Amino acid sequence: MNKGNKLYEGKAKIIYETRDKNLVIQHFKDDATAFNNLKKSKVEGKGVLNNRISEYILSNLSQCGIKTHLVKRLNMREQLIRKAEIFPIEFIVRNIATGSLTKRLDISEGTVLEKPLLEYCYKKDELHDPLISKEHIYSFGWATEKEIKEIDKISLRINDILLGMFRGIGIKLVDFKIEYGKAWNKDTEEKEIVLADEISPDTCRLWDVKTEKKLDKDRFRKDLGNVIQGYQEVARRLSIMPEETNISEVNFGKTTSIKFKKK
Ligand code: 5GP
Repeated sequence: MNKGNKLYEGKAKIIYETRDKNLVIQHFKDDATAFNNLKKSKVEGKGVLNNRISEYILSNLSQCGIKTHLVKRLNMREQLIRKAEIFPIEFIVRNIATGSLTKRLDISEGTVLEKPLLEYCYKKDELHDPLISKEHIYSFGWATEKEIKEIDKISLRINDILLGMFRGIGIKLVDFKIEYGKAWNKDTEEKEIVLADEISPDTCRLWDVKTEKKLDKDRFRKDLGNVIQGYQEVARRLSIMPEETNISEVNFGKTTSIKFKKK
């Protein structure tokens, strides 16, 4: 699939057009940002790992009947995805209180929530992605009630599947952020809601079950060190990286030297 013009460059990804107007190529960068771009750095190999981890997770979700934008992984850093009209909303699902929830409402860190908590943030960097209510979404036409009802249902289903998937490899899924969009379905000839985001240690909080060690982007946000080793540990436990590969020792300038296990 030939890469066309750059359509969009975000903090961690670049989107390129293809010859098919309904498909785009998503490139995973090594750039890491936090606190609305105030903290910036490169984490060598992060893009490669997120590409592979996200492919693995989205493929599994798809096998469970969740519609996603993923068509296929093309190479170490790129995926072919369906072009989607993205809702300007970040959908957050929380199982354990941490991060902005504990700060905002003074909830004790680590409180296990009775049931998953759904939150909505307006995607607007200038405003620091503020928390919004469903009423804001409906009032300003960011999505309809019918769409939010469907998305909430999908988010909870994704949470159930991911909780099980991670629990099986000794990881607690603390919370995650996902985005949705509307993509063209060529069979029904209608647009449909699809999960249109990566799911990776960049977008989830993942804690080791026994030690509560963080295996996600909080290692970068909080200067905990060994960022790539955390991501690598997730890939290793998901069995998508050979045991002997140590990402930290690999020169990612030559990404072709890393081999992932075949599915
Ligand atoms: P919090 O609101 O506690 O900062 O984040 C909740 C969850 O959503 C965390 O898993 C966090 O990684 C994810 N999240 C929230 N906003 C963003 C964002 O702008 N980018 C990314 N990659 N993840 C986000």
